[in-house]
Amino acid sequence: MINRQRLIDEFINLVRIDSLTKQERKMADALMAKLKGMGFEAYEDDTGTKIGGNAGNIICHVKGKKRNPALLLMAHMDTVLPGISKNPVIDGDIIKTDGTTVLGGDDAAGIVVILETLKSLMEDNTPFADLYIVFTVAEEGGLYGARGLDLSKTPADYAIILDEGGDIGTVAVKAPYYNRFTVNFKGRAAHAGIEPEKGLSAIMLASKAIADMPNFGRIDAESTSNIGTIKGGEVRNIVAETCSIEGEIRSISEEKIDKFTEEIINHFKNTAEKLGGSIEYDIERMYPGFHIEETHEIIQLLKRASQISDIPLNLHATGGGSDTNIINDAGIPAVNISVGMSSVHSTDEYIRISDLEEACQFLTAVIKAAYEK
Ligand SMILES: [Zn+2]
Repeated sequence: MINRQRLIDEFINLVRIDSLTKQERKMADALMAKLKGMGFEAYEDDTGTKIGGNAGNIICHVKGKKRNPALLLMAHMDTVLPGISKNPVIDGDIIKTDGTTVLGGDDAAGIVVILETLKSLMEDNTPFADLYIVFTVAEEGGLYGARGLDLSKTPADYAIILDEGGDIGTVAVKAPYYNRFTVNFKGRAAHAGIEPEKGLSAIMLASKAIADMPNFGRIDAESTSNIGTIKGGEVRNIVAETCSIEGEIRSISEEKIDKFTEEIINHFKNTAEKLGGSIEYDIERMYPGFHIEETHEIIQLLKRASQISDIPLNLHATGGGSDTNIINDAGIPAVNISVGMSSVHSTDEYIRISDLEEACQFLTAVIKAAYEK
């Protein structure tokens, strides 16, 4: 049985631990102790040193009554800013903060749902197939923890990532590819009062290029772009020699993201050159997208879980990236299921206790459905 009070206590306890991206040491230690306390052999990988963080991913194999189909259950340990000294407040069914930090339900909710579900399954002697538990570091800002994983150590058939919002039963089965780019516009410096005609303002180049850039903002139903930062010039009285911008492009379609990216960069290049300047640029595929078809076995598993738990399934596309992108790309079919986190990455973040409980029921049903197979 899911233990509501234990679930609340565990959530509050985890949320109180500071665990910013690449500073997950305390959280990793706490989770390692919890898993060992439950009788599991957990270990930490060396991702922390590789990415310049102070903790690695926590990995644990929970042997079941049978080997397959094995599930990989995943949640991330890091939280975004402002996330130091979080002070969770319980208000009826809602857990929120005092308003000065995020709650960190993203993704402490995923972690506690995994822990409580495991405890409940074992207490009830519910049979299950092999499970692999992975708590990643540095999901926020780059999915670095998931990228560092050696998935040969967690040979699961399917992966369930618990890092999504929405009603319980909401499952992200589609997520975009993500490109980020930096473009450095180059002009010529000159004294702005004495001989401005000898200069070429990089700020002007960038402004003109952005003002009529193609594919800006919402491109189509499955594609978006943004210019997030612009920095240029040194001082007021010098014609700015350089101006750099940082942007991103997302699309569910790999073909489209490549096309849109190329069009944007070409536009910047042509605009700058036409005006006598130039650009240097850098494009990076931060992560690949994924699209799980409705006929896929993992969706059949979720449909069965929906029947067992009586929680309606809502398959949807998300605009964000998560560890799910990396795991799918590595060859394990993965979906991202809701644990009820709301208004994440803001000081208004909250979560419903009833949603946490229901997420445990849904995960229990997924594990039962896997055992039936
Ligand atoms: Zn998250």
